[in-house]
Amino acid sequence: MAVQVDVLIVGAGFGGLRSLHTFRSMGLSVVALEASEAIGGVWNFNRYPGARCDVESYDYSYRFSEELEQDWRWSERYATQPEILSYINHVADRFDLRKHVELNTCVSRAAFDEASGRWIVESDDGRSWNAGKLILAVGQLSTPKATKYPGQDSFNGRIIYSAQWPKDAPDFAGKRVAIIGTGSSGVQMTPVIARVAAHLSVFQRTANYSIPAANAPVSEEEDLEVKANYRARREAARNSPSGLGFVPNGKSALEVSDEEREAAFETAWNRLGFGFALTYKDILLDQTSNDTASEFICRKIAEQVDDPDVREKLTPKGFPFGTRRPSVDSGYFQTFNRSNVTLIDISESPITCFTQSGIRTSTSDHDFDIIIYATGFDAFTGSLLKPDIVGRNGVTLREKWSAGPTSFLGLGVNGFPNMFIIVGPGSPSLLSNVLLSSEEQIDWLANLFEYCRAREINEIEVTAEAEREWVAHVNERAQETLYLKTPSYYLGAEMPGKPRVFMPYSGGVRGYRRFLEKEAETGYEGMTLSRSDRQAVA
Ligand code: NAP
Repeated sequence: MAVQVDVLIVGAGFGGLRSLHTFRSMGLSVVALEASEAIGGVWNFNRYPGARCDVESYDYSYRFSEELEQDWRWSERYATQPEILSYINHVADRFDLRKHVELNTCVSRAAFDEASGRWIVESDDGRSWNAGKLILAVGQLSTPKATKYPGQDSFNGRIIYSAQWPKDAPDFAGKRVAIIGTGSSGVQMTPVIARVAAHLSVFQRTANYSIPAANAPVSEEEDLEVKANYRARREAARNSPSGLGFVPNGKSALEVSDEEREAAFETAWNRLGFGFALTYKDILLDQTSNDTASEFICRKIAEQVDDPDVREKLTPKGFPFGTRRPSVDSGYFQTFNRSNVTLIDISESPITCFTQSGIRTSTSDHDFDIIIYATGFDAFTGSLLKPDIVGRNGVTLREKWSAGPTSFLGLGVNGFPNMFIIVGPGSPSLLSNVLLSSEEQIDWLANLFEYCRAREINEIEVTAEAEREWVAHVNERAQETLYLKTPSYYLGAEMPGKPRVFMPYSGGVRGYRRFLEKEAETGYEGMTLSRSDRQAVA
């Protein structure tokens, strides 16, 4: 017998728990289904050494409760994974959310039932739910790539995936360790593992740009200051392009003198992390402007690396800064000056297979005790397309998105009524502070649900026309940027066979919010809102 709920949420990470809290506060019955044994989403899985957020802690935290904001004390500018996980657990306890979360519950199928206008959701252990609304809060980087090299099963040591970090992870002390992959995960763990391992080999396919985090403990004074001005800080974040609070310099990088630009880059480099990309308004829009930033970063990398050959290999080439997601690091490049660290360039000498004792490249064999895959995720759509999601007329989301994801506002998909995606493709998502973007969307959905409740509307479906126009707009905005020049996970290039479609909305969180506001102000003209007598109004 299916459990009846007003709102069924898939996922109990940041987005799922905020959805749960908000929709429950509206008096709706809510359940969140979480596949793993604990809440926390990616912060529960990505437990690798050095894992931390590269959005500042005060901004990568919920804004919905001023008491929570005031009570919680972040210890560092960029919180570590354990601190973030304990924050999520604190929130779950403080707002009594756990009783609505079903752990160890992996959704295998969700089907829209035309007869009742509701969603029938099934888990892989045979349980089912009947829900008026389906909220997919499954994360954009939550399905790890299952990278597997030939011969892997014969390796005598241990293989670990960064995004499925085991709770019984081995001690690296005295071990020969390999890391494959130099995205944010590889960049974060490299300095930390290098400090304890007997030897660390980093297998790099593509050198990427990285900005120093300038991480530091948060002093009492800083904490008091943020908390005294928290509303203004939140508003500044909401009104900044990426939701990080950085407002781009209104000038082009090409409008200023070399000296002025150098000084501005230097200031940003020493403090801003991701904000470096906004030192000038056109760094992500204009190639020549971007070249000035790339050249500055490459010079900074060169200053940090002693060996000329290693320096050359670590220098990004062939793509504009920022068009693959840059990392924010704590001593990554300097780590390659250590005598126990080796950089292995697999663009020159690809990995051919694993052996019993380690990794074979086209030119050499390397022996290891532990090999870590930090090879990333099936981004944006991986977790959304894992379960069978079946909309009107039996059409699955996989079929609907076979040429790439389409949506209106990244939130709703035509043919899938009463289904909403949190920070999905077509929204600012991974080009923004995803926590801020989630809260924006969830608050907007709460208003939509109230609007519908007051009018006894129980079926909400984005129109085909609104979806078409939004997809065109997302593409137009992307065309204005440099992002399309580089194969990246923003474009689906991380997975063989994935459609090459630019997935996040590059118009910024403020620009995006204007569309949300307009949609509400016009009485939701991009959606068909109907009263069906098939289901009670929730
Ligand atoms: P990623 O950025 O996608 O990087 C994957 C790395 O693995 C790349 O260097 C890639 O090389 C390499 N790779 C992929 N497949 C490979 C293969 N078969 N053989 C060898 N190398 C391979 O993944 P990630 O580092 O896990 O980070 C993903 C995203 O998660 C980040 O961009 C960020 O959004 C998020 N993240 C955030 C934080 C944070 O907030 N602190 C921390 C970690 C991750 P190519 O570039 O050549 O493909």
